[in-house]
Amino acid sequence: MALVNTKEMFKKAYDGGYAIGAFNVNNMEIVQGITEACKEENAPVILQVSKGARAYANHTYLVKLVEAAVIECPEIPVALHLDHGPDFETCKACIDGGFTSVMIDGSAHAFKDNIELTRKVVEYAHDRGVVVEGELGTLSGIEDEVSHEVGSYTRPEEVEEFVQKTGVDSLAIAIGTSHGAYKFKPEQCTRNEKGILVPPALRFDILEEVSKRLPGFPIVLHGSSSVPQEWVKVVNEHGGKMPDAIGVPEEQLRKAAQLSVCKINIDSDLRLAMTGTIRQFFDENPSKFDPREYLKPARANIKALVSHKLRDVLGCAGKA
Ligand SMILES: [Zn+2]
Repeated sequence: MALVNTKEMFKKAYDGGYAIGAFNVNNMEIVQGITEACKEENAPVILQVSKGARAYANHTYLVKLVEAAVIECPEIPVALHLDHGPDFETCKACIDGGFTSVMIDGSAHAFKDNIELTRKVVEYAHDRGVVVEGELGTLSGIEDEVSHEVGSYTRPEEVEEFVQKTGVDSLAIAIGTSHGAYKFKPEQCTRNEKGILVPPALRFDILEEVSKRLPGFPIVLHGSSSVPQEWVKVVNEHGGKMPDAIGVPEEQLRKAAQLSVCKINIDSDLRLAMTGTIRQFFDENPSKFDPREYLKPARANIKALVSHKLRDVLGCAGKA
C-alpha cells in the first residue's frame, strides 16, 4: 500500500468511535518503533513531521524514512502529515514533496485572516489529492517552535463558518489539552494521596457543542500526551530533572476518541520513553558507547508505548 491521505481513515474512525494516532517522527528509531507497533496491532497511523523535525532531520530524509516504513508495513494505511504548518510556503513544499496531509496553523491570526490563509492552502492541496487540517483556538505550552503562554478555548460559534469558508478536511480545537510535558501548572491541579498532580478535566462541553454544529466532521486534538508517571520517575531517578511533569489522563482521551475526535497527537510520551530508556542505560552501563546498544531498547520502549496507546487509548488496534 502506498502512502494514503486521511479521508477514509477519518470516516471509518468517526463511524467506529475510535481515533487515529498521530505520532511525531524525527529519526529512524522513532519511525521504526511506531510503525512496528502499528503493524503488529494492525492499526492505521499518521506519521507527522513538524517544522522543527524538518529543520533537524531534513525533509528528504524524513520522507524516505516514512516511505521505507510503508514498504516494510504494506498491510497498514500510513499517512504523512505536516504538523503545525506555519505558512503557505511550508505547506506547499510538503504537498509538492510527498506529504499526503498538511496542517496550516493560522490560529494565531485574526479569524478572517485564518480563513483566508487556510482557504489558500486548501485550494492548493485539494488539487493534488492532499487533505488539510485547520485550527481554531490556541493551545498553551511549547512544542518545537509553537509556543503560547496562555491558550484560548475554541469558540463553537465560529466553527461552521470556518469549515464552510475554508473547505478544510479536519479541525484542531482547543478544549484544554496543551503542548509539552508540563501541560498544567501545579496551581491548576489538585494532588492525590501519592502527591501526584491531578489535572483539570478537558472541556467536553465545547467538544460536544462543536460536534453538534459539525455533524460527521473529524475533530483533532493536539497536545495529547499523558506524560506517564512511570517514565517521569525513570528520568528523574537517572539524573533527569522533570519535577511536576504532567499530561492529559488517558481515560479522557479514550472518551474523546469515542466522540467526534478522529486524530489524537502524541509526541511528548515518545520523547519521555526514549529519554528515560537512554538515561537508565547510561546510568547502568557507564562504559558502553555503541549507539546501537542504547537506541535498540529506546526503540523497543517506543514500540511498547505506542502499542498501549493503540489498544487502550485510541481504540484503533485491528482497524487497518
Ligand atoms: Zn500541536
